[in-house]
Amino acid sequence: MAADESWQIVLVDLPGVQRPRDSLTKRMQRRVEHELADADAVRTEVEMLWQFHTRRLHPRTPPEHLTDRVAFSQRPPLRVVQCCACGLVYRNPRERAHELVGAYEGEAPADDVLASLFETQLGSYRAQARRLYDVLGRGGAGIEVGSYVGGFLAAARELRLDVEGLDVNETASVFARRKGFRVTIGDLESWNEKRSFDAVAIWNCFDQLPDPRRAVIIARGLLRPGGVLAIRVPNGGFYAALRQRLSGTTAPVATAILAHNNLLGFPYRHGFTMGALTRLLETLGFEIVSTYGDTLVPIADRWTRRWAAVEERAVKGVLKAVAKVGGAQRAPWFEMYAVKAADANGVTGVHGGIG
Ligand SMILES: [Zn+2]
Repeated sequence: MAADESWQIVLVDLPGVQRPRDSLTKRMQRRVEHELADADAVRTEVEMLWQFHTRRLHPRTPPEHLTDRVAFSQRPPLRVVQCCACGLVYRNPRERAHELVGAYEGEAPADDVLASLFETQLGSYRAQARRLYDVLGRGGAGIEVGSYVGGFLAAARELRLDVEGLDVNETASVFARRKGFRVTIGDLESWNEKRSFDAVAIWNCFDQLPDPRRAVIIARGLLRPGGVLAIRVPNGGFYAALRQRLSGTTAPVATAILAHNNLLGFPYRHGFTMGALTRLLETLGFEIVSTYGDTLVPIADRWTRRWAAVEERAVKGVLKAVAKVGGAQRAPWFEMYAVKAADANGVTGVHGGIG
């Protein structure tokens, strides 16, 4: 959206409400967003992803181990667009909020799937816990939104960060509780919590939340002044740039990079760019203190063919090196650490498209 001191346009986009299909609305929409992938292009990407992963998995891989690799919790988007002003990538039309939450709540993965996920991701979570600890500069009490099997809760505990979980998925939350963690089953919107925390971490679901803006406002309310909000998201700018290379000679490399980072087919509601997330957090009373460019956590497990696991490590190793030199905006995923500013400014509307 375009905005300066003298004027401002706010585009209100209510989830689930269809815009009229008249030519004026179409012309206005074209000015604020451009199409990255239409329905056919999205379908092609999802097929490419399917081929990519089936080639890399043992033929006898049980279907439940395919979850989040080729069988997404969410239906693929009909159309993916990008905001012309801030670069935010999002689905248009959007899903209704209750459809989204429903998809996650209902899943009941088997215990061995959850245990395998916990083990595979622990190393990455240790690095994330370390980064959060460094920004915070001390131990403290925190909450992780989207704690799932509790991998981050375990990593945080090793650093004397006392983090509890909040997750809509009952099966995963019960699994985490059995490991000795305090986990509330529910979402940020309905969590009526009066305590305040030193840290709020949203590592896994910020891009999937029905209303990320509202989530930041709630997170702010949960933080003490000086408290840290840590967010990890897929990089919408990275996806937008690389998907243009999905044909021709660059196709195999671009496919591998996007697929190993779970960006092919864009299975997210929002793909924030660094600029879009910075703007959202600053508008809502945060000061950005640190960003970190990263790849998707490792996904190879015992069902992955050996060469494919080597390939995954190589691709992610190169991408991490590129991010280290070129900055987080060059990475497929990035983390942003923001401190709650002491003065509570009035919250103004920016990018009405979010939420
Ligand atoms: Zn925008």
